[in-house]
Amino acid sequence: MIPGQFDYVRPGNLDETLRILKDREGEAKILSGGYSLIPLLKLRLAQPGLLVDIQAVGGLDGIIRTDDDWRIGSRATHRSILEHAGLTAEHALIGDAASGIGDPQVRNWGTIGGSVAHADPGSDWPAVLLALRASVVVRSLDGERVLPARGFFLDTFQTGIEPTEVLTEIRIPHAAPRTGSAYEKLERRAGDFATVGVAAVLTLAADGSIAAAGVALTAVNDAPFAATDAEAALLGARPDNDAFATAAGAAAAQSKPVSDSHGPADYKLAMVREITARALRQAAARAHGA
Ligand SMILES: Cc1cc2nc3c(=O)[nH]c(=O)nc-3n(C[C@H](O)[C@H](O)[C@H](O)COP(=O)(O)OP(=O)(O)OC[C@H]3O[C@@H](n4cnc5c(N)ncnc54)[C@H](O)[C@@H]3O)c2cc1C
Repeated sequence: MIPGQFDYVRPGNLDETLRILKDREGEAKILSGGYSLIPLLKLRLAQPGLLVDIQAVGGLDGIIRTDDDWRIGSRATHRSILEHAGLTAEHALIGDAASGIGDPQVRNWGTIGGSVAHADPGSDWPAVLLALRASVVVRSLDGERVLPARGFFLDTFQTGIEPTEVLTEIRIPHAAPRTGSAYEKLERRAGDFATVGVAAVLTLAADGSIAAAGVALTAVNDAPFAATDAEAALLGARPDNDAFATAAGAAAAQSKPVSDSHGPADYKLAMVREITARALRQAAARAHGA
């Protein structure tokens, strides 16, 4: 449980950070909250030559509303997101997800950017970003790239971020009228990683049918994924239990859970159906109230 040797720097601004990442490309690793990276260092599953601690880099922890979207700085903690009343009022699933991450200490230190960059297949934020069709903003000395969340989570612990890039911001489009959302997480004990996590976003048309749907799952595949077949099944349907059961079945068909300490694969598939239907019911109830 003792990490290998590494150098440590604490740059004071983003430009300095980017220069260090370029100069030490291949051996430098960003340290943000440290709640995923430090355990890996202790287990020697990660052995970087240099830790670039970005806690002193200013301007990365804001939560800003623009005319087009919400912009959440990569160093915004789970707690600061949970406590942002405007953001969670518009996108209720964000409050649902943030409140269920770890315990108060994890929520105080862990950051959304760290979670998204780490891309643990069981973490909560990736499913939320996929369902909301959010974008991830990364910067390097070559400039900025805006990457759609759909396509960003490539595989287990693998994303579209290059080693010389810093994740700076998450952008979330505003909710259309009559939109409701929910994140439902099945966990063995309070504070655990998900056994199954489902993010659902529904927009209702004026006639009450489903005009747009976002459904994404965590913990039941190599990477969090958008349940596109479930989304397609929902479009144009009435938001009722039959439609939700059909969509939940489609989400299960796209899931590939493995048996592990959270339970056997068959149990997880049954839970995908149950938790997906539950998230959709809650999203629809909130859309009716929106
Ligand atoms: C006990 C415990 C319980 C937890 N429970 C949950 C849970 O229920 N749900 C959940 O989703 N998560 C959970 N987590 C994980 C937690 O949310 C982490 O805080 C989060 O995944 C990583 O954020 P961090 O800021 O700590 O990142 P760090 O640990 O500092 O970094 C993680 C990785 O991301 C990279 N990185 C960090 N920031 C950036 C950036 N700005 N740009 C590019 N790369 C970056 C680092 O180089 C590293 O590879 C738990 C963790 C613990 C210890």
